[in-house]
Amino acid sequence: MDKDLEQFKSQSIQEGLKMMAECPLCKQAYSEQKAKVIEEKNSAHLVHITCPHCLHSILALIIVSKVGMSSVGMITDLNVNDVRRLKRLGPITEDELLNFYSLLQKEKLNFN
Ligand SMILES: [Zn+2]
Repeated sequence: MDKDLEQFKSQSIQEGLKMMAECPLCKQAYSEQKAKVIEEKNSAHLVHITCPHCLHSILALIIVSKVGMSSVGMITDLNVNDVRRLKRLGPITEDELLNFYSLLQKEKLNFN
């Protein structure tokens, strides 16, 4: 893959994670190291974060596009291993990620 694009994408993910700098539940700052990228599919990145303070987990989707970036998240009971186990049932398609994204937007837990 194109090196510049690769770099652009990893910077974008970092930016996206910064948008989720604090826990929506306890409002304390995350340490960035707690975020794990579960799945990357072109412009969509599924990220799992466990709050080090209240220990709630958030599943967030970061979408990077030419016009910018958006991120949405939801509170989840799944830990990162559960998510990986679900993922092993089959690869997540881009459609599924986008469906998840629409679902998250409906849930209105928006980090923007
Ligand atoms: Zn928290």
